[in-house]
Amino acid sequence: MRDGCTESEPGGEPDGVPRVTLPGVVDRHVHLGLVDRALLADGPVTEVHDLGWDPRDVAAWAADPPSGVRVRYAGPFHTAPGGYPTGRSWAPDAAVRHVATPREAAEAVADVVAAGGYAVKVALHAGMPLLPDDVLRALVGEAHAAGLPVLVHAEGDGQARRAIDGGADVLVHVPWTEALSSELIARAARMTWVSTFAIHDGPGRPPGLELALGNARRFVAAGGRLVYGTDMGNGPTPVGVNEREIELLGRVLTGEALRRAVLGPADAAPALTAPLPVPETASDLIAWLRTSRRLPTSPR
Ligand SMILES: [Zn+2]
Repeated sequence: MRDGCTESEPGGEPDGVPRVTLPGVVDRHVHLGLVDRALLADGPVTEVHDLGWDPRDVAAWAADPPSGVRVRYAGPFHTAPGGYPTGRSWAPDAAVRHVATPREAAEAVADVVAAGGYAVKVALHAGMPLLPDDVLRALVGEAHAAGLPVLVHAEGDGQARRAIDGGADVLVHVPWTEALSSELIARAARMTWVSTFAIHDGPGRPPGLELALGNARRFVAAGGRLVYGTDMGNGPTPVGVNEREIELLGRVLTGEALRRAVLGPADAAPALTAPLPVPETASDLIAWLRTSRRLPTSPR
């Protein structure tokens, strides 16, 4: 048994075919409000983390999720008045919480706790009004005091640095707008970064994707934890396994590290079974997931 996978011996199955079981896919960055979430039912994706929506809507979806899927949610984006994603056509008003002062930060975090959120989502987007340092510090301090991690969308010059040095726990996108210095990456190595490589994909070698892959490789080499997340709902993303995301993640990780990044934790109950060997590469893992079926005992 390795990292939550089990192999059965030939002849140990009713049809005589050896099978491998693994935990299901965990997508650590989705927006259920922007997809037909019913399509997730009983597929290979067994857990999704919604990182920005009206907390009342998403709490209702978590209470009555697609069959076989666990839904965790952060609730709204916390941002400066007028900050990202204010005014975006896809973002309902209640998906954006404007925070102007440290006192408002405390109130906003209390509201996340009351709504059942598992994390506090923060947006730092250099193209729009930005949270000042004292308000960012207050959001991080209040979240940590409440036992919640802080998940940051950092975009544009200097914003990844503000998130890293401001005590954030997670970057919800591997930084794609600038190459981070080695010193900064070393300070980030305590964090988790969510891949979302495929949203930068396109013909040729898109600069955003190349920057993200370069930052991710150095982050992993420094000891950082890189995990699979697709930003499902951002553009025409598949509702289910995003094979392109796994392919791109495979340019940074292989073997057990890749399985750990895409699948549930080693101590998670196995949810999937397939008559293929334990997948070692991205293409193995994609084929494995395509062939897999849900175990009858997997979480419902
Ligand atoms: Zn997102």
